[in-house]
Amino acid sequence: METNCCVCQKPKANLQCGVCKEPVCKKCAQFLDEGTFSFMKVVPENVRHTVYCGPCYDQVAAPALASYEADMKKAKAISIFMKEDSKITQRFSRKENAIEIPECDDREELIMRLAFLAVQGGFNALVDVEIKHEKVKPGGKYQYTKWSGKGIPTLVTSSRHL
Ligand SMILES: [Zn+2]
Ligand SMILES: [Zn+2]
Repeated sequence: METNCCVCQKPKANLQCGVCKEPVCKKCAQFLDEGTFSFMKVVPENVRHTVYCGPCYDQVAAPALASYEADMKKAKAISIFMKEDSKITQRFSRKENAIEIPECDDREELIMRLAFLAVQGGFNALVDVEIKHEKVKPGGKYQYTKWSGKGIPTLVTSSRHL
């Protein structure tokens, strides 16, 4: 059975756009890697797909990807204060609930994940950050380090407060 591509109208559309569900050929399809938005707490339904037709990619996936990347950039720039720095940060607001990442296999990524969620919540700093790690040996085969961490998101308006 041959289906026409919703973009170029040629037959052999053996893929399907995740958003509009129209058939799309390999040439016209745009792809997103699985896990592209993995730093988000909840990935919006319409960007969970890996295959998009051109129009849906432009309307749905591209803007989502752009704002995701913008938040990622902001996350790299936020201020992160460890629990040990609580003297320095004692005047910062701590009324938000802590953000927690229960499991991550890389320390840098763990911090980025905390920072990303803080940015998505509209914050620009994390205070009282605690990072733990433990060695795990599943089935006694190989050992790896499991990282976990938490921090309280807050909004710092000026470095004068330091
Ligand atoms: Zn096509
Ligand atoms: Zn589509």
